[in-house]
Amino acid sequence: MNPRFYIVATPIGNLSDISNRALEILKSVDYIACEDTRVTKVLCEKYGIGAKLFDCHKFNEKERSEKIISLIEEEKKVALVSDAGTPGISDPGSVLISELYKKDIKITSIPGACAVSTFLSMIPRKSEEYAFIGFIPRNKKQQIEKLLEYRHVNCVFYESPNRLMETINNISEEFGSETKIAVGRELTKVFEEVKIGTVADIIEYYNNNPLKGEIVVMLFAQEEASLNEVELIQKIKLLKEQGYSQKDISKIISLLYGENKNKIYKLAIEN
Ligand code: SAM
Repeated sequence: MNPRFYIVATPIGNLSDISNRALEILKSVDYIACEDTRVTKVLCEKYGIGAKLFDCHKFNEKERSEKIISLIEEEKKVALVSDAGTPGISDPGSVLISELYKKDIKITSIPGACAVSTFLSMIPRKSEEYAFIGFIPRNKKQQIEKLLEYRHVNCVFYESPNRLMETINNISEEFGSETKIAVGRELTKVFEEVKIGTVADIIEYYNNNPLKGEIVVMLFAQEEASLNEVELIQKIKLLKEQGYSQKDISKIISLLYGENKNKIYKLAIEN
């Protein structure tokens, strides 16, 4: 069965960033459900897309699901787009899609621009691992809790330019001004900019340069904290009481805490 519902990624700034397949699909569908019809109209006019538009945003997604399901049941083809990038990524889509799955309607996604992947592709990282947490919470306590939860992986989030400095100051307070971060601004647009540096560097940069437009941030993964000597000796004693040999103790602790085996072995003999 061919899909009758298409999730279509649209540009995140540069209107040319749309695939041939996305255009073919948007030209072939009867209806396009979009976050804001005024925004999607610009794209449709540029590319001669004649589908009928109707709004589907976070405040009416559930109700619009019913309309979309009836259109599909009438054999109409429907596409979903958001104002920018990939629907469902910090944008509406997920409520609607879960309703379509319940009805066993075949859906497909036409991939394209997304601010997270565009940004990450430009950031040198030691590890492939990352966590994308969407928009970072505004509340300072919740913000720090979230960042602490993901501190051992590269943590990517969306933030508004008005709150960015406050968020970076919160990061500085909690993790230190030498913490490494990256900020992507206005990606794919004329004033695209990517800055990578310590929190202190970034604060200094944006104190002297304009901070406008759309922003994506990555807090680089923090190294696992190693144990201090007192804590190491405590762990060694605990393992000794359980009957582990000095050799096993050095293996276990180096595996769990990334400590040097010989150092632990020596400590195990001395304590
Ligand atoms: N669905 C979109 C996607 O695929 O990336 C994200 C939509 S979310 C409502 C909008 C947020 O994405 C912006 O506030 C900003 O944080 C980020 N964003 C979108 N376009 C961007 C761009 N061109 N440069 C940097 N960040 C961008």
